[in-house]
Amino acid sequence: MYYNDKTKVYLDGEWVKAKDANLSFYSQTFHYGNGVFEGIRSYDTPVGPSIFKAVEHYQRLEKSARLMHIPFRHSVEELVQISYELLKKNKLQNAYIRPVIFMGENMGLTTRKENHLFIAAWEWDRFLGNSLVKVMISSYQRPNPKSCHVDAKVIGHYTNSILATNEAKSKGYNEALLLDANENVAEGPGANFFYEKDGVLFTPPEGNILPGITRATILELCKEMGIEVRERYFGADVLKDIDSAFFVGTAAEVAGIQSIDDKKVKLKWEDSIGHSLHWAYMRRVTEKEITDFSLA
Ligand code: PMP
Repeated sequence: MYYNDKTKVYLDGEWVKAKDANLSFYSQTFHYGNGVFEGIRSYDTPVGPSIFKAVEHYQRLEKSARLMHIPFRHSVEELVQISYELLKKNKLQNAYIRPVIFMGENMGLTTRKENHLFIAAWEWDRFLGNSLVKVMISSYQRPNPKSCHVDAKVIGHYTNSILATNEAKSKGYNEALLLDANENVAEGPGANFFYEKDGVLFTPPEGNILPGITRATILELCKEMGIEVRERYFGADVLKDIDSAFFVGTAAEVAGIQSIDDKKVKLKWEDSIGHSLHWAYMRRVTEKEITDFSLA
């Protein structure tokens, strides 16, 4: 599914077959989750595949690495170029690109310099599917920003996302919505959250969330479309009386929400601001972004 016998991946400067790519069982990442990654999408456009906000994604990878004291050995420009080459080598247009920086052999708990870069790509459907999402307020909180860097995309943080998703799915929901350490709404396991009330959108501010690149794009689109957005903290009780809600993320794109803890949102998805933003987002991502690197 993620690869076949012919799939090529990038590993430390080499193009290797996915089936032959290897890492050491003594990697610090394998044991303790110290490593950073990204999730990026490319879209088919009339002038070839375009990687949406490739620069922003690799800048965030660099920031995640810095926050985890992992030396970053590549330039953002080089990584964007490698990503386009990866698509070409695998003949991919609409694809999901997954760069991972993982650590060398080390059973200790300090970060050593040695690290490796792996980049793979595959075709991946929207992560929350195409139907409206039934959401459960999770019993798991997002990690406390005083215990880790929540604004970094760190591999180990995703055990929290897995617990919340397992809980939601085992109870018959499609997705979890997690609170922060102060019991305010934070985000989903892999996407940011917005709700609509009386023609205004609300979303949690930065601080307890992964500041999503899709979230930033939605804020840009709202500005362009004259939609008011308020970034502020709110508790789960507020969600009992809302007009609509949606998740946003690279893998999820803009995913409409049907209900939260079985309480249905008031508006039909087609009549909500989220729906208009979904189409505006799809238009934006399929426009060719002209950067010096994407012309390679
Ligand atoms: N929050 C979390 C926890 C995520 O994993 C993601 C996916 N990267 C997002 C939000 C959305 O971020 P982006 O829009 O940059 O994909």
